[in-house]
Amino acid sequence: MDVAIVGGGYTGLWTAYYLARADPSLRIAVLEREVVGFGASGRNGGWCSAIFPATLRKVAAGSSRDGARRMQLAMNDTVGEIEKVIQDEGIVCDFARGGYVSVARNKAQWARAQAEVAGWRDWGFGEDHMRLLDATEASERLNASGVHGGTFTPHCAALHPARLVRGLASVVRGLGVRIHERTGVDELVPGRARTAQGDVTAGIVVRATEGFTAALPGLRRAIVPMYSLMVATEPLSDSHWAAIGLGQRETFSDKRHLRIYGQRTADGRIAFGGRGAPYHPGSRVRPSFDLDPRVHAMLRGVLRDLLPAVDGVSFTHAWGGNLGIPRDWYPSLSYDRASGLAHAGGYVGDGVATANLAGRTLADLITSQDSDLVTLPWLSRQSPRWEPEPLRWVGINAGTALFAVADRTEARTGRPSRAAATFWRALGH
Ligand SMILES: Cc1cc2nc3c(=O)[nH]c(=O)nc-3n(C[C@H](O)[C@H](O)[C@H](O)COP(=O)(O)OP(=O)(O)OC[C@H]3O[C@@H](n4cnc5c(N)ncnc54)[C@H](O)[C@@H]3O)c2cc1C
Repeated sequence: MDVAIVGGGYTGLWTAYYLARADPSLRIAVLEREVVGFGASGRNGGWCSAIFPATLRKVAAGSSRDGARRMQLAMNDTVGEIEKVIQDEGIVCDFARGGYVSVARNKAQWARAQAEVAGWRDWGFGEDHMRLLDATEASERLNASGVHGGTFTPHCAALHPARLVRGLASVVRGLGVRIHERTGVDELVPGRARTAQGDVTAGIVVRATEGFTAALPGLRRAIVPMYSLMVATEPLSDSHWAAIGLGQRETFSDKRHLRIYGQRTADGRIAFGGRGAPYHPGSRVRPSFDLDPRVHAMLRGVLRDLLPAVDGVSFTHAWGGNLGIPRDWYPSLSYDRASGLAHAGGYVGDGVATANLAGRTLADLITSQDSDLVTLPWLSRQSPRWEPEPLRWVGINAGTALFAVADRTEARTGRPSRAAATFWRALGH
């Protein structure tokens, strides 16, 4: 093989796609422990968004103001790039570019919305990037309870995550890439990926294992798997939708600290998710962690509170999966020509678009393209390692609890939580 890619999610498959398109003579294999899309790529909230998890301030601190702006502009372009490939390749995945509305539902959230938009202006991004909405404009998009206002960006699309990953796998197979499912890799070393069935030899070995990375030798403290859980309603009636809004299939959230996210699916359901599930000691990953009745009940309650129109509606699905979080919440990618080892990931909860940018960039690096992408500031940077246990477990779960308390306090008092602000600053936001 010329290239062995470990992980059959968006990162692995976009990398394979752009490599095969750039150089059809390359022999490429994707090695996937389970089935394509088994990880977050097959079960996420379907926001194809231009959100880069590290703030512009943080990106600029490690590069320059121009570098940070270029990173954001590359993310904005990525939403259009995905739309283009989906159209060109005939991938049916319910893609709708309706933008993203985030409502502010108490005074503290409204203050954050205003500060956020002012922040974008300071960085030279105008109304076409992020707009402040008054209460009427915000409610027209999402008729949520207690709306003070909100923000809107056009740089987001809703899509069906599993259809995208399966469609992409089928396109990639059509380009001659070999996808080996049920093939777990135990170790990645220069020139080979070690599996229980034997070694796969390849000049270049790409790690695209995101929330599963901690199980690989030497990477236990590189990326933490955090669980994000989701629920979905039955298909809603036209009268429900008339009451809720989301006429452009905008993706939606509010400005709380403990992130929530939702979309109107093509078949008229609400798919809705959020953080709040515990981090498990030792960065363990288990199928049973996907289903946490307490967190699923909490999500149903949050959605009913956010959108009173869903009261009485049935919830038909509940699931979850893991995200990959680097210690500094800053995704990265690398390619070392000497060893042939490459990686991409650490997208926190924003990997749908970011993985495409990663795949394109890795393909450019591997095929020696002198493109703008290979100069973006997330290249070859090293996130610090996470703390050893039990410190890691204590710190992460304390942070989650702090955000949950801060959200409740802000809803009650309307005053911004100082503790949450301090914690965000400690994370470098
Ligand atoms: C519930 C949920 C909701 C989310 N919502 C959104 C959203 O709305 N928008 C957004 O941008 N992001 C969202 N995310 C994050 C996003 O889905 C991920 O960042 C993205 O899918 C990561 O893609 P990936 O290919 O890097 O990783 P994954 O999709 O996790 O793929 C990694 C693959 O590698 C395989 N693998 C792991 N280890 C090995 C090994 N040793 N050998 C072989 N194979 C291996 C796994 O089985 C898996 O299939 C969400 C995540 C979750 C869990």
